[in-house]
Amino acid sequence: MQKTGHFIAGNNYNDNGRSIDIYNPNDGSILDKITSATDESINKAIESSLKAFEEWKNVSISKRSEILYEFKILLEKNILKIADLITHDLGKVKEDAIAEVRRGIENVEYAYGIGEILKGEHNKNVSSSIDSWSEFEPLGVVLGITPFNFPSMVPLWMFPLAIAAGNSFILKPSEKDPLASIFIAKLFNQTSAPKGLLNVLNGDKEVVEKLLVNKNIKAVSFVGSTPVAKSVYKKSSEYGKRCQSLGGAKNHAMVLPDANIDYSTNQIISAAFGSSGQRCMALSVVMVFSEIKQKFLKSLTKKVSNLKVGLDIQESNSFGPLVSSDHREKVMNYIELSQKEGCEVILDGRDLLKGKNSNKGYHLGPTIIDKVSNSMKSYKNEIFGPVLQVIEIENINEGIKIINENEFGNGCCIFTSNGQYARKFSNNVDIGMVGINIPLPVPSSYHSFGGWKNSFFGDLGIYGPDGLRFYTNRKTITQKWPENENEKSKIDLTMPNN
Ligand code: NAD
Repeated sequence: MQKTGHFIAGNNYNDNGRSIDIYNPNDGSILDKITSATDESINKAIESSLKAFEEWKNVSISKRSEILYEFKILLEKNILKIADLITHDLGKVKEDAIAEVRRGIENVEYAYGIGEILKGEHNKNVSSSIDSWSEFEPLGVVLGITPFNFPSMVPLWMFPLAIAAGNSFILKPSEKDPLASIFIAKLFNQTSAPKGLLNVLNGDKEVVEKLLVNKNIKAVSFVGSTPVAKSVYKKSSEYGKRCQSLGGAKNHAMVLPDANIDYSTNQIISAAFGSSGQRCMALSVVMVFSEIKQKFLKSLTKKVSNLKVGLDIQESNSFGPLVSSDHREKVMNYIELSQKEGCEVILDGRDLLKGKNSNKGYHLGPTIIDKVSNSMKSYKNEIFGPVLQVIEIENINEGIKIINENEFGNGCCIFTSNGQYARKFSNNVDIGMVGINIPLPVPSSYHSFGGWKNSFFGDLGIYGPDGLRFYTNRKTITQKWPENENEKSKIDLTMPNN
């Protein structure tokens, strides 16, 4: 099998780096092999990115906008192809894969409005006859490191905006499923953008470690697990780079007695089990008031039992396999641990593995775990699989306390028909993105995405207005054109003031 190398200056680039197998999680077969970037390919990518940046930073805003529009059209035309790559490489069911690409395209649409969003700030006469304004200049070569679970959307959170702002971009996609990311980069290279504006280097942590110490890279956008996010942030800072580093999550839903049970169970199931629970905004914990718990669990369990987990790539499946055999093992270990910690597994996804034809793909059925407490290890860690944990609570304050004591702070949501309770909830949770009767409150591209606590390291969130600030340096210019001779020759040693 021929190995997929890197994509540099508009061409495939192969070096003799270590080979990494890419698996099809639907059946465990080897889909492709990539090579891990060596010093040779890294230097080549950096050289090409620097060259493209020098050309690109002087390209007019309207031309940049035009190129991003060309890119959007290419993405739309190829949406089924991209979704197909995601389905085979990651195991996402087709509809979910298409939806992922659509959420990614939103960010290209935001980026091609660059003329509007990059406008500076201007003040005439800040002091007598003095004008002042700010401009936003690109940084140079920017690096994006992305996780396996959104191989199209997360790269699209990053490079269209970075490029629209005038930077060049190196993408290091997940080594577990890089095929959709590489394909998208190749589509971008079909536009009239300079070659080398977007380069792709494949590989794992070894490549990341080399890139983080490279002085030519000015900023790093990272999305992945919390321990890695933390270390990437630390290393980037040590090497003088700007960094936004997004980590893992544990997202809670709270269901109040006045909530519509049918609506809330539908929403919670969609957000807990969609994409096999492999979303950083997936709902992994539901906190339900004791007075409605039995009714809620009955409705929840009945509906979850009807979900269809694909052993084949069929469009009727609710969700597909986990990304790898190791990851499935890890998720199953958490289910076992929760039993040891005294929880009750009321629906066990491991039963699926006992069925026929089930030994090849990395599938796991939906699992519901009851009698969970927030002191348990199986609760505290991110599981990242089709597992929903249930905690019984007595009142809103108790639920808010549990959320706030959790180390993660990505998303959470409340289901209620009472505006005052909803307001109390959103005012008091220490969480970056809050849903009110919305289970997956992922902000649209016109806002920015970012968690709190151990879900995020950095200052500016990803994409939207924060993303634009992240990818630019503010320069503030103050000007005066003296009008008379007296003013031109005057020496004044006091601090300039009004
Ligand atoms: P991961 O941290 O294992 O890998 C992410 C990226 O970092 C990959 O490109 C990988 O090659 C690289 N990497 C891995 N280990 C590294 C190391 N030691 N040093 C340097 N680089 C390293 O994450 P994953 O398993 O690919 O993705 C799942 C995780 O990502 C989950 O924790 C999920 O919550 C999180 N995630 C977060 C968000 C968010 O917006 N907060 C979005 C998507 C996924």
